[in-house]
Amino acid sequence: MIEADRLERVVETRDPTQTRALAAALAAAARPGDLICLFGDLGAGKTQFAKGFGAGLGITDTIVSPGFVLMAEYRGRLPLFHVDLYRLADATEALAGGLIDERQAEGVTIVEWAERLAEALPAERLDVLIDGDGDDPRRIRLRTDDADYARYLGRVPVPVERADPRAIQAAPARAGAGG
Ligand code: ADP
Ligand code: MG
Repeated sequence: MIEADRLERVVETRDPTQTRALAAALAAAARPGDLICLFGDLGAGKTQFAKGFGAGLGITDTIVSPGFVLMAEYRGRLPLFHVDLYRLADATEALAGGLIDERQAEGVTIVEWAERLAEALPAERLDVLIDGDGDDPRRIRLRTDDADYARYLGRVPVPVERADPRAIQAAPARAGAGG
């Protein structure tokens, strides 16, 4: 369906730098109260994505896996709440662990292993599904059921591969040639 197509983008990244660059570009669309849900196996690149998103929000502190704390908070253009549910069994435990915090309304919450929340996830959110492991390229699918979150999809850079500096230098020539 046309509507569904409009609310989904797929991007391939070849290394963690490209994944972080993609996330940083998306962060320009961030507004207070947003929820970004990251899905993907261990080592897929969820934390790399969170790091890039934080950089895009102007966060200068190093973003690391929250580890044994459920949520880490960082200061940027908007506060970033980085949640990692890896160690939690299910939503009941996650919610009991204090996942929902009124301060999150003022910032962006980015959740690794968001599937742990299952039905407790609100429909208003951006899903980031990362496929691939090791040194293989990652297929990153961005999707939402909420029209308001479509603003993120508009920030997807046109092929992320062109983030290569040589390609950036080549770009104006192509634009001048009418392409
Ligand atoms: P997760 O949080 O999903 O468990 P991490 O972000 O901690 O995963 O780790 C991803 C690992 O994969 C890192 O070691 C990173 O260097 C590596 N990697 C290789 N290619 C990519 C890519 N295209 N995007 C993200 N990470 C990548
Ligand atoms: Mg992680």
